[in-house]
Amino acid sequence: MKTALALAAMTALLLPAALPAQNAAEPVFTPAAMRAHVEFLADDLLKGRDTGSEGHEIAARYVASQFDGLGLKPAGDNNANGVSWLQRITFQKTEFGKTPATLTVTSPAGAKSFTHAGDVILGINADQPHLDVTAPLVFVGYGLENARLGLNDYAGLDVKGKIVVTLRGYPKGLPSEEGAHLSATKGKIAESHGAIGMIALNTLQSAKARPWARMVQFADEPDFTWVSPDGVPFNAAPGLRASAMLNDPAAQAVFAGAPATIAAIRKTADKAGGKPKGFALKTSVTIKADTVSERVTSPNVVAILPGSDPKLKDEYVVLSAHLDHIGVSAAKPGDAADKDRINNGALDNGAGIATMLEVARAMAQAPDKPRRSIIFLASTAEEKGLLGADYYARHPSVPVKQIVGNVDLDMPLLLYPFTDLIAFGADHSTLGPIVAKAVAPMGVKLSPDPMPQETIFVRSDHYMFVKQGVPAVFLATGYANGGEKAWGDFLGGAYHHPGDDMRQKIDWTAGARFAEANYRITRAMADGDAPPRWFAKDFFGDLFAPQAEKAPH
Ligand SMILES: [Zn+2]
Repeated sequence: MKTALALAAMTALLLPAALPAQNAAEPVFTPAAMRAHVEFLADDLLKGRDTGSEGHEIAARYVASQFDGLGLKPAGDNNANGVSWLQRITFQKTEFGKTPATLTVTSPAGAKSFTHAGDVILGINADQPHLDVTAPLVFVGYGLENARLGLNDYAGLDVKGKIVVTLRGYPKGLPSEEGAHLSATKGKIAESHGAIGMIALNTLQSAKARPWARMVQFADEPDFTWVSPDGVPFNAAPGLRASAMLNDPAAQAVFAGAPATIAAIRKTADKAGGKPKGFALKTSVTIKADTVSERVTSPNVVAILPGSDPKLKDEYVVLSAHLDHIGVSAAKPGDAADKDRINNGALDNGAGIATMLEVARAMAQAPDKPRRSIIFLASTAEEKGLLGADYYARHPSVPVKQIVGNVDLDMPLLLYPFTDLIAFGADHSTLGPIVAKAVAPMGVKLSPDPMPQETIFVRSDHYMFVKQGVPAVFLATGYANGGEKAWGDFLGGAYHHPGDDMRQKIDWTAGARFAEANYRITRAMADGDAPPRWFAKDFFGDLFAPQAEKAPH
């Protein structure tokens, strides 16, 4: 005790002379502060912070309490008790009932039935608790449509009242983020042509990226959707009554007697720019599924740090990170009784929340406050389909027109001393150059997306801001200096697995640096004379913010 004290006193005396004077305006980010947040959020007691669970509620109180201690302003629900830190959302949770869901293919040669989670995976339609639909089939290639990118897979095909059969993904050679976005809207495209259902088949490429056995593992996950304040569950394409994915035995049955074989179609699709042409199939399907729904609630946690500039403070920068994770895995037959089944989500996304909290602390304590206002959003139900962020972007604390930019933090891999960052979506707006310039003084570079096949641009919360017209990026640690191996090992290992816990070799110094990088980025967005802007003629800017002022590229 004595020795330690004496040593501390000596160090205190020595410090000012030994180190260059620290600029009072430069905040300090410590490994210990990052670790402390993650330690709490990834504790077994929180049981993996599943949407609607008590563990997630506890995590939400932790974040609210941190915001409170920093003197931020609550920006959640406005109710009788004033403004809350929490924006409570109702979700409809739907699962298959006891009767197994089936898909039956009828061809001139007879009928063949397939059961859910065997060679077919059926989609859940919460609007149809007793689904029973029969319709003829039309193959529509990739099922995409976009004049700008020269896609018109529905040309000359009549799909009204029918079920369309599509290939997963998008033509090889299409820009990956545009392609990923269009792929995510296939259901709406089908609906707009009058189709009542959609079936998807693997391409050679998609089968490699997501093998059937892997997809079947997630076939019985419940489906979630948010419920609007007037009580209506959200459905992006209510006209589509049924959906399914087919493994090869079922796909072969569907293509019985067709003018082209699946093998030939897949070969065409595997060529650069290959766009297999559609045609009417000679088969029909009957899809039957019983589902049961319940409602659960779960909150976003939202805080505002008001800006210091009298004019710019009415513009808002959103720093977001999802707080939910995937809860506890179901026990499998043969599991040891003490098997760890808690998905703690230390990196996904305890690390992102810790980063956001440390940036919030630094902002709140900075002697020179940011010029624009900052919204801190700890979203829920990201793992259920980016639902908390979608809800927030549609029901924001301030008019969405006043939100000028978003940086989302999701699963920063703090497993190595990163020297580069990836800002997914950086090519579309001035956020690319803003981020690059902000982190350059740290010796950190901005790298292009090294894993376009993962279509990460549409897989995290920032995409929901993009869809409301807000320039946004998703920031992650890069492939340099050991990053590529760390990413490969993590995605094939601890990712969405009980192994994503505090036993990992987390590099907390990298964590502190990641927080500093995000502080610099958020400040640059908040303090610049001009807000972040979409580039002129950008696909997403033109699509979602046609009226917004654009920046020259
Ligand atoms: Zn995740």
